[in-house]
Amino acid sequence: MSTIRTATTWQRALSLALIGAWAGSALSEESVVDKVNAEAAKGVIVTHALRANVAELEGSGGNITVLSGPDGKFLVDSGIGLSKAAMQASLAKLGSSPVKYVANTHWHWDHSDGDAWLQQAGATVIATPQTVSHLTQASRVSDWNHTFPPVSADGVPSVRLTADKTYTMNGESVVVHPLMASHTDGDISVYFKHADVLATGDTFWNGVYPYIDDEHGGGINGTIAAVDSYLKFVTDKTIIVPGHGAAADRKQLLEYRDMLVAVRDRVAALKHQGKTLSEVVAAKPTAPFDAKWGKFIVTPELFTKLVYEGV
Ligand SMILES: [Zn+2]
Repeated sequence: MSTIRTATTWQRALSLALIGAWAGSALSEESVVDKVNAEAAKGVIVTHALRANVAELEGSGGNITVLSGPDGKFLVDSGIGLSKAAMQASLAKLGSSPVKYVANTHWHWDHSDGDAWLQQAGATVIATPQTVSHLTQASRVSDWNHTFPPVSADGVPSVRLTADKTYTMNGESVVVHPLMASHTDGDISVYFKHADVLATGDTFWNGVYPYIDDEHGGGINGTIAAVDSYLKFVTDKTIIVPGHGAAADRKQLLEYRDMLVAVRDRVAALKHQGKTLSEVVAAKPTAPFDAKWGKFIVTPELFTKLVYEGV
């Protein structure tokens, strides 16, 4: 698929807020979290049909992948609670069956904040123990200038997954796979086998520099390893749903992987020469990639910092 999606308003807001939070400018006075929540509260959800009975919902934080059918729905991530009404309307258009399962790709609120209302409505939420741990205590993300309080009892995932598990429903095999530490220390990917759709969570941001949560166990090397593990089984036909950005194909995933490796190698070489973070940022190690990857969300400077922390 080669769908080009323009930056949504919240993506632009996120970009500005991330720049501001890191640079310590006036922009950091309003957290990226407030800005993204305000966007989600507008309740504009776009549904992208992918293949067979699998679709993607865009507009409530990170991308949400949905398997629909008479056995109930399976969601990858739950978006932001403030867009509950719009989410309910979008899900109803995909069929009348209720949401049976939600898999959280990781703990970040733009992927898990909807867990509470979905569990109240009868869904079972699946996550790694690390994700549950971050959700059940105060967790700070300095780059977002925000401390997340522990979630309410309804927001705590009830299934802790430490090994692969396959859910069979609606004629589909849904493989839920805990990853090594990558975007955070507790990511999972979900593969819809028959539809041949892979949901990567935030280990993959299509066409833009990714955020990496180094304060919660994430790192550049683990992110590259996660992408390499996808490249071992995805084919030219596989549809890949990233955490952010348009649905992608294998070629786009490969391009992302090659960018990550090149930037990692450049930053590592400079760091191992003894250069400080400021010196490495000033050397602009991402320069050959900025025109394509640095346009929004995570700036070249912030991405350099995130990579520096992990090498
Ligand atoms: Zn994330």
